[in-house]
Amino acid sequence: ANPEEDFVLKTIKSRDVHFVRFWFTDVLGRMKSFAVIPSELEDAFADGMGFDGSCIEGFCRTQESDMLAFPDASTFQVLPWRPESNAVARMFCSLRTPDGRPFEGDPRQVLARMAAKAREMGYVFNVGPELEFYYFKDAQGAEVLDRGGYFDLTSLDYASDLRRDTVLTLEKMGIPVEYSHHEMGPSQHEIDLRFTDALSMADAVMTYKLVVKEIATRHGVYASFMPKPLSGEPGSSMHVHQSLFDLDGKNAFFDPADPQGYRLSRTARCYLAGLLKYAPEFCLVTNQHVNSYKRLVPGGEAPVYLSWARSNRSTLVRVPGYRPDSEAACRLEVRSPDPSANPYLAFAVMLAAGLKGIEDGLDLQPACENADLSSLDRRDLRELGVGTLPESLGEAVELFASSDLMRETLGEHIHGYLVAAKRAEWGEYQSSVSQWERDRYLAVL
Ligand code: GLU
Ligand code: MG
Ligand code: MG
Repeated sequence: ANPEEDFVLKTIKSRDVHFVRFWFTDVLGRMKSFAVIPSELEDAFADGMGFDGSCIEGFCRTQESDMLAFPDASTFQVLPWRPESNAVARMFCSLRTPDGRPFEGDPRQVLARMAAKAREMGYVFNVGPELEFYYFKDAQGAEVLDRGGYFDLTSLDYASDLRRDTVLTLEKMGIPVEYSHHEMGPSQHEIDLRFTDALSMADAVMTYKLVVKEIATRHGVYASFMPKPLSGEPGSSMHVHQSLFDLDGKNAFFDPADPQGYRLSRTARCYLAGLLKYAPEFCLVTNQHVNSYKRLVPGGEAPVYLSWARSNRSTLVRVPGYRPDSEAACRLEVRSPDPSANPYLAFAVMLAAGLKGIEDGLDLQPACENADLSSLDRRDLRELGVGTLPESLGEAVELFASSDLMRETLGEHIHGYLVAAKRAEWGEYQSSVSQWERDRYLAVL
């Protein structure tokens, strides 16, 4: 075994670990897990652990249902919310088919492949996501914690206790939190992770979502990452701050001599142009549900139109100006993704768009600092020649279906699966009659 694997085997003894969970992710970003006893681990590192993948969303290909999970020893962590004796640990896995090929339906390998492509071009891809979510009294989501009779000091304290417990648990698992705060919506919160390379971060996001829900459950409440859980209240976003560093650790996005004062290098400008150009095509991945498009409407803080700026928060991409002179802090913030996205695929498609911008030397449109486009609807914007994100899942899936960049980045398997699954989701939604429609029409028609 290599030194990391040795470390895992030793820690299992010293920390009394009796179950090791093997974690991986389906195409829609849901965590899957099975537990292995420690005596199996040495073999698992060498030869993988077999499991039946046929029932897993996006994996199904009946002739290919036998799958092997290879644990990544560098992701070993003891789960702090489980007992200390007979403890439980986890490792993320990559998936292979029985003949040893990487399994095409494995999102983690899609991101690993894109990160390797970036590396070949001389870059490390760093991301820092900000995930928002709501707490509810239960999974039905009828009542938030800090409104509707619960807006008192006790319940306010309660939410910050929840957040503190969550942050402490994440830090015990080696996931540093940059900051956390109450968001605009009632009972809406945000916890921001300190930036790191994209693959470690996607693992961290998967862990984060589990920890937020786990800690909520322990406190008898429910946490949801649904993009727009409440009409008339802000949706929840997953802003993704991103940058490319050179292999020698220099931020390739930073150029203090930028004549326009954004301190962006030509590399950053091309990357940004790629994000703007391909956002309509990758939107299905960063915003993957019918409900995602209830958040992406004009007039709020969620972006609709394809533009960029320093301070205009209705733009798709912002160049944060907190510490404009700091090289490390120079980055782009993509504001469209929501926290229900599969983080592996979301990071991979944004990176693909940005790298394509660099490869093709795309020109960047001017920034949009002052224009108040937030009051205009999509049709007005299109008349002004301003591109917009897709308006619905139905529109998003068709833009995604005909995108060569998406097919290439995700591979035929995942691309084809998403097209079929998301067309079906849209079709089902289109044919269901909502309470809104009954309230609006039944009595008057
Ligand atoms: N909740 C807002 C959204 O859905 C973002 C608020 C913020 O700027 O942090 O995009
Ligand atoms: Mg926020
Ligand atoms: Mg933000």
